[in-house]
Amino acid sequence: MDAYALVLNAGSSSLKFCVYRPAPGAEWAVDTRGQIEGIGTSPRLTVKDGQGQKRYDEKLDPSVGGAHAAIDTLAAWLQSTYAGGRVVGVGHRVVHGGPSHAGPTVLTGDILAELKGLTPLAPLHQPHNLAPIETLLDRMPDVPQVACFDTAFHRGHAPVATVVPLPRALCAGGVERYGFHGISYEYIASVLPEVAPEIADGRVVVAHLGSGASLCGLKGRQSVDTTMSFTAVDGLCMGTRPGALDPGIVLYLFQTLGLSVQQVEDVLYKKSGLLGISGVSNDMRDLLGRPEPDARLAVDYFVYRAAKEIGGMAAALGGIDALVFTAGIGENSAEIRKRISQASAWLGVELDEAANAGNGPRISTPASKVSAWVIPTNEELMIARHTRALLGL
Ligand code: AMP
Repeated sequence: MDAYALVLNAGSSSLKFCVYRPAPGAEWAVDTRGQIEGIGTSPRLTVKDGQGQKRYDEKLDPSVGGAHAAIDTLAAWLQSTYAGGRVVGVGHRVVHGGPSHAGPTVLTGDILAELKGLTPLAPLHQPHNLAPIETLLDRMPDVPQVACFDTAFHRGHAPVATVVPLPRALCAGGVERYGFHGISYEYIASVLPEVAPEIADGRVVVAHLGSGASLCGLKGRQSVDTTMSFTAVDGLCMGTRPGALDPGIVLYLFQTLGLSVQQVEDVLYKKSGLLGISGVSNDMRDLLGRPEPDARLAVDYFVYRAAKEIGGMAAALGGIDALVFTAGIGENSAEIRKRISQASAWLGVELDEAANAGNGPRISTPASKVSAWVIPTNEELMIARHTRALLGL
């Protein structure tokens, strides 16, 4: 391959990547996808081809201890695998675009500086997302780069869905409801006309249920509201995050239990949700097979909370025409879809059990007032599409 494009999703301890074959005038196809995981502990590079077959799996030298070293390792692997190939563009997932980015942007040194300024709004993710951008701007300044933001798709929300009801002066530094998972929702909105034309332009609640989980209310394929807000902790119950929580409980953790800031952060991001309630696992697949009462309660709460928020999102939309399930749990767990759909029967969802067991795409009966669907998300492809469009590739 003489030219390829790269999509990067850099986290605190992993660097996920997708290599696309650019094809002028056609959707790009994945050539390989993989990740360097365990950065800083026991790094490992795994790669699969476009069909999901394993291509590479190697333990790396423990000196691969940070984002810059991870990029160097990936660059070396790409050079040996695509010898003589040219990188025509790189698309990045960036968690926060702040108030001004309602769409993807071509990266420059000035934009990078602006995005670094948003770090206080997403301290756990933004620095990791930006690290490979900085490395590439420095080492390969001629390779054009594009940032796609998890917040951008939600920027059109009305003030009433954006405001945080605290004193205005305290919110001046950017405290508002931003919402996340926007790249996933934008992808789902983009494929609705093809997969579900009868509801594509209606009122659609999309449930992105993975280790992170949220809902997005779409009207005419635009985001109207979403359950995550200032941070990705709000809204639905997640693998290790609690979702919506009485803020008074956070005060209690500080004042009565005497937890430190770091301990409270760990509780909110790493120890709550399914893991907190069950005490045994953050993995839905695991929990569904467990008999312990607390494991069952964790699953019950996940379903209860999702169904309750779907009702709230239907209210925000002024009604609901369709419910879409996506992400790890939404795409793969017929049991969770069934339970959420049954809890949403009052809205008019009538599940077709056989279609649900077969993973859809339509999983409601023909008579169902509100149709239900399973649509696999593809955040990397959404980033690739934006990269191609912005760079004119
Ligand atoms: P994601 O973050 O989108 O990769 O989703 C990860 C979550 O999806 C984990 O909680 C997995 O347990 C869950 N998951 C994946 N496959 C299944 C399945 N077949 N049944 C239930 N949960 C699943």
